[in-house]
Amino acid sequence: MPVTEKHEAAAAIEESVRPRSLDDFIGQNELRANLRVYLDAARERGKALDHTLFYGNPGLGKTTLAQIMAAELGVNLVCTSGPVLERSGDLAAILTNLGRHDILFVDEIHRMPIAVEEVLYPAMEDFKLDLVIGQGPAARTVKIDLEPFTLVGATTRMGLVSSPLRDRFGIVARLEYYTPEDLARVVSRTGRILGVDVTPEGAAEIGRRSRGTPRIANRLLRRVRDFALVHGDGRVTEQGAAAALERMEVDELGLDQMDRRILEVLIQHYDGGPVGVKTLAVACSEEVRTLEDIYEPYLIQCGFLKRTPRGRMATQRAYRHLHMLS
Ligand code: ADP
Repeated sequence: MPVTEKHEAAAAIEESVRPRSLDDFIGQNELRANLRVYLDAARERGKALDHTLFYGNPGLGKTTLAQIMAAELGVNLVCTSGPVLERSGDLAAILTNLGRHDILFVDEIHRMPIAVEEVLYPAMEDFKLDLVIGQGPAARTVKIDLEPFTLVGATTRMGLVSSPLRDRFGIVARLEYYTPEDLARVVSRTGRILGVDVTPEGAAEIGRRSRGTPRIANRLLRRVRDFALVHGDGRVTEQGAAAALERMEVDELGLDQMDRRILEVLIQHYDGGPVGVKTLAVACSEEVRTLEDIYEPYLIQCGFLKRTPRGRMATQRAYRHLHMLS
């Protein structure tokens, strides 16, 4: 299958297993309970829901929650992302087309250019758009009324969201890594939807190795299913899952080849650090952003890596996990 088709197939599967309602959404109990209150209150008051900012690592459910919020409120969802909004006109066109109480979802909101961000401020605050017409001394500003709407922003990098933007969100919520038990439930649920027979122990084994992330749990389940079909009777058992994940070089903590490579480079080439993130990225042939957004948060969560003012450092735990001497 050509690569793009493969991506499309994976995306279609991801769509089909996405929870559609808050009750379907597994884990993040506190956040879910709070959202339930905010959604009910907005419905009761007949007002647009407060602007909401979700932050957390990729694959934890930010887009899913935005979709659920729109479905629960019975409004349209318009999706875009920070890097796509290159000019302020791009955002103005989207805003003027929003219907009453619609949700505008902006993924990677920290990557929105500042000129575009400035269009957003009056839109978020007063549902107004300041359009500049003409140029030079003859330029004048025209205010356009917008329908009341809800902006749902998502970011993996809270530190890169400017404070004027952050301050305009009424609800700011962090998505945490999921527990292995919650991930086992994600795997069982996805198995049911995809028609894969997964034993509770098989689901638990995959859940444990999914680095706290539902998207990874779903991806590992699909690969483990392939092994189960080819080498077994199609059932995903604990043993089968463990063997398949070993073959895929996903270890018992969910670290993959790249995670281990990062730690090995840090330890073998730089005596465990500290070393700057750019140097580390080059040495691992990986992009800085990928390193920072995808790999580091989990390595830090596991206690294998430390971010210090002088650079990244491997911890004693990392040495032990890789069976290396410090
Ligand atoms: P993000 O926007 O944070 O990168 P997504 O919302 O796209 O993450 O979620 C990635 C995938 O993980 C989705 O396809 C969804 O099926 C699954 N997923 C995320 N959160 C949950 C959850 N709480 N329960 C079940 N599945 C989830």
